[in-house]
Amino acid sequence: MTPTRRRLLTLMTAWSLAACGPGPVPAQDTPALPADLRPQANAAFDAWLSGFRGRAAARGISPAALEAGLAGAGYLPGVVRRDRTQIQTRRSFEDYLSIATSDARLARGRAALRRHGGTLAAIEARFGVSRHIVAAIWGVESAFGERRGRIPVVSATATLAFDGRRGAFWEDQLIAALRILQAGETTPDGLRGSWAGAMGHTQFIPTSYLAHAVDFDGDGRRDVWGDDPADALAATASYLARNGWRSGLPWGEEAGTGPLSGRTIRPQAGGPRFTVTRNFDVLKRYNNSDFYAATVGHLADRLAGGGPLRGSFPPDANGLTRADRIAVQRALAKRGYEVGPIDGVIGPASAAAIRDFQAAQGLAVTGQADRALLARLQ
Ligand code: CA
Repeated sequence: MTPTRRRLLTLMTAWSLAACGPGPVPAQDTPALPADLRPQANAAFDAWLSGFRGRAAARGISPAALEAGLAGAGYLPGVVRRDRTQIQTRRSFEDYLSIATSDARLARGRAALRRHGGTLAAIEARFGVSRHIVAAIWGVESAFGERRGRIPVVSATATLAFDGRRGAFWEDQLIAALRILQAGETTPDGLRGSWAGAMGHTQFIPTSYLAHAVDFDGDGRRDVWGDDPADALAATASYLARNGWRSGLPWGEEAGTGPLSGRTIRPQAGGPRFTVTRNFDVLKRYNNSDFYAATVGHLADRLAGGGPLRGSFPPDANGLTRADRIAVQRALAKRGYEVGPIDGVIGPASAAAIRDFQAAQGLAVTGQADRALLARLQ
């Protein structure tokens, strides 16, 4: 979720004066969160929170909603750690695309399209946004509902507001989270999301939820958190429609492979080029990134039955192509190392496996896949 989306938001829907109504989300029968995502004592955080209480009251959060929302909330060190890590690690477009269009992700997406075809058709009819585009955003944001996020949003946004990097932004998100509770849209236990406060199937941050969430199934609640994706998918389509999505216009295509002409973009130097339309810019209103918009567009095409990209990517900074990186992963897996998915993306599991292998071989431990490592493994 991006500043772009934040800027668009207008305040806001009316909220009731009730503190917390009945919540749509049942208690989640999932493993406990890791220790660094459970509240930890932090005196500086507590001091910040007492100041925040006054600011929240001044912005219309009732005492009852404030107490209910903050009960059990606290400082989550793991959220700060993830925020820092995100700044340092930036995936290439090739990696981003490989993850989003892996065979497993595509299979899950096709199953989701079959299972929720009626809902997606109804959303397409109402908002004029292709079901494949809506499904692709669902796929990129939460792997079709598999990773909706289970970190308490009040604690996550409070931690980030306290931590201070973009503190005003996060305090706005915290206030919005408390408004969601005050309106009885869900319970404090139900108000869960990613470490960055992005909630549910299509990962709306709290301010986006307030501005754009939709009760599409008509049960009286705007439920982006539960198993049924209808409300979240409708909110996504509604958001795109409001930002100018043109019904029937493609997002774009790989340059030179179809009828489109005009503006082209290349998200990664030396990689495939895409001819894009105004709808590509609308996708960027969801997340202001060429990586993101091209990945959503390509995933939508794959879900609609299209094939993989024809263009290729150049070797990475370590001189390896995706095929080379897959060869590294396969060779390590064959030796018994746990590399994670064999997808050509050197993520944390693959890097750990490489470090273990390097240590066992008496090599310099870098965790990097490079030509010397590949040669050693072969
Ligand atoms: Ca609903």
